[in-house]
Amino acid sequence: MLYSSTFARKGVKVLVYKGKWSGFRMRYHNFRVTPAAVYHNGKKYTFKRHSVFFKTSRALRIHNSSYTGSFICYIKGSYIKIINYINFEHYVGGVLRGEIASSWPMEAIKAQAVCARTYAYSLYLKAPSARYHLVSSEKHQVFKGTYKLNSRYKNAVYATRGIIMMYDRKPIKAFFHACCGGNTANSRNVWESTASPPYLKMVRCPYCKNYKKFRWQESYSFKEINHRLRKFLKNRRHIKGLKIGAYTGGRRVKFMWIYTERSKFRLSGNKFRLAMGAHRIASLKFRMKFVKGRVKFYGKGFGHGVGLCQWGAKTLADKGFDYRFILKYYFKNINFIKL
Ligand SMILES: [Zn+2]
Repeated sequence: MLYSSTFARKGVKVLVYKGKWSGFRMRYHNFRVTPAAVYHNGKKYTFKRHSVFFKTSRALRIHNSSYTGSFICYIKGSYIKIINYINFEHYVGGVLRGEIASSWPMEAIKAQAVCARTYAYSLYLKAPSARYHLVSSEKHQVFKGTYKLNSRYKNAVYATRGIIMMYDRKPIKAFFHACCGGNTANSRNVWESTASPPYLKMVRCPYCKNYKKFRWQESYSFKEINHRLRKFLKNRRHIKGLKIGAYTGGRRVKFMWIYTERSKFRLSGNKFRLAMGAHRIASLKFRMKFVKGRVKFYGKGFGHGVGLCQWGAKTLADKGFDYRFILKYYFKNINFIKL
């Protein structure tokens, strides 16, 4: 059977550091690396197939995050990769710390816990025996370690333990974002994939309006746009102009026309957003205007817009809806199972 009821107690491997080991210092931790072994606080660990496994009673502190559990190190030349090997449910708690404030209503935190668990489990299933299943950054989901976790996070994990979202007998792609700006996005329109799964379709969301960045504005000089697009596209062609090409049903920019000296080409809205800086062009729900030699953008929402809208979930939780209702609102036709 694919889903064992004991799975939730098992471990998951998360890459928490990747970089140069020389000059690498962690609080309470001292690493010394030789071609044959790694010395951690004076204790020798020999390589077993080029990796070192160690446990520590103290939290491993890296870049303002404190990790507990066991660790596996891989060292190649002057680079080190540190993988945190932890209980699956503890991992979910560490993601809550990175992705949602502990002061938020409990049902919103629980909804986030189910998203985090579902997402992590689907990545785990892709390659169960991989060296690591997830990375601790925004590439997957922000994981800030499990050391001294707030009790509200722990309660949310415990209350939903093992629960994940399924569609067609598979874990769903449980995407989430800060604020949808009024309606969520069809995943196909954001990432140009062939089809949106039925549970990642646009839903109306009148619940995220009180987010302070619900509306945003940003402006760029033409010089900066040129610089950013040329860098992103790895292209030397001078960019003469740009125009919104088309909108999707939910008023998100589908693609841009980019004009060069000789021709024009299309660039997907999402790629344009990445080129301009995803924190500045906060979402694809924007209009554009030329004002006094600058290009101004006026938009709504924050993030890619696919899946759960966190600020919407907060409002629904404040209104008294439970986490199952909230998740079913943003992910249509899903069901829940317990691992
Ligand atoms: Zn919303």
